[in-house]
Amino acid sequence: MKNKKMHVLIVDDNPQNLKVLGNILKDNTPYGLAFAMSGKEALEYLVKNVPDMVLLDVMMPDMDGFEVCKTLHARAETKGIPVIFITAKSEPEDIVKGFQMGGVDYVTKPFNEAELLMRINTHMELKRARDLLEEKNKELIEAYDKIEHLALTDTLTGIANRRNITNMLGKEAARCKRNKGKFSLIMCDIDFFKRVNDTYGHDAGDYVLKTISHVIQQALREQDIVARWGGEEFLIVLPETDAGNAVAVAEKLRTAIGNTEMSYEGISFSVTMTFGVSEYDVSLGIEKSIKKADDALYEGKQTGRNKVVRSD
Ligand code: GH3
Ligand code: MG
Ligand code: MG
Repeated sequence: MKNKKMHVLIVDDNPQNLKVLGNILKDNTPYGLAFAMSGKEALEYLVKNVPDMVLLDVMMPDMDGFEVCKTLHARAETKGIPVIFITAKSEPEDIVKGFQMGGVDYVTKPFNEAELLMRINTHMELKRARDLLEEKNKELIEAYDKIEHLALTDTLTGIANRRNITNMLGKEAARCKRNKGKFSLIMCDIDFFKRVNDTYGHDAGDYVLKTISHVIQQALREQDIVARWGGEEFLIVLPETDAGNAVAVAEKLRTAIGNTEMSYEGISFSVTMTFGVSEYDVSLGIEKSIKKADDALYEGKQTGRNKVVRSD
């Protein structure tokens, strides 16, 4: 919470009034003070400063207090500032107008000093409580966004996690049903990854996972989604792509990964991946369409690895 000293802008065309009000606040409150001698001057001040309260005279030559209040409430930066009118205009319609213009209170002259101070303090407390609430709310929204992001992101690689892509698959499937469109899935897995860990260490394995995530992401289009599905297994969703084109994408990825030099703590090596491709089948649904890609991947593993297999 910001511990900024709260401050009040006092606006009156009469210097004597400014002095009287200024002294009352100076002697009885901890608030900082600023002064303006016309509506124009007040608005100029409010462009650069956001006081916590404005004490506003109504009758002023160029622009009256009602107009000033209306103007400051029309601006996002200043609309939350409480305005208290302090004026000799004491007809009921004046008072009503003051509230209609957005004032939080209306004090008629001659005023009682103690009463005025109570009103000022009450509205300052309300303002302080509202500021605190707004700040806490902002913090809450930020924390929630952070948690949501964490819940949808794979910690090691920074790409989408399984939960995330599962959500997105649901949306993609619904969209597909609506537009009678198509999309494809690629399930892919690093070949002999256990050997990478065993030979170069677990950290080198982590480095490989991160590098591969990056290579895949770079090679895909903006609308494609890649997620870490399991340990060293990735699932890719290619919207508006048939199986034939998905095979071409998988081939491109296979080549890009095979050509990527992994260099970890002075040791260079490379890895390959095997890919299973399936086109989403509305009649099968999501799980079974993923299973088809998975089966194709398995076939690729069984028949030599480092290849792309399209499910039939
Ligand atoms: P295949 O070609 O048949 O896929 O063989 P593989 O060795 O890649 O497959 P296997 O399932 O036998 O081994 C996968 C390995 O991946 C074992 C596991 O320790 C490792 N692994 C899983 N998650 C991580 C991780 O987050 N970091 C590291 N470094 N290794 C991981
Ligand atoms: Mg593997
Ligand atoms: Mg595996």
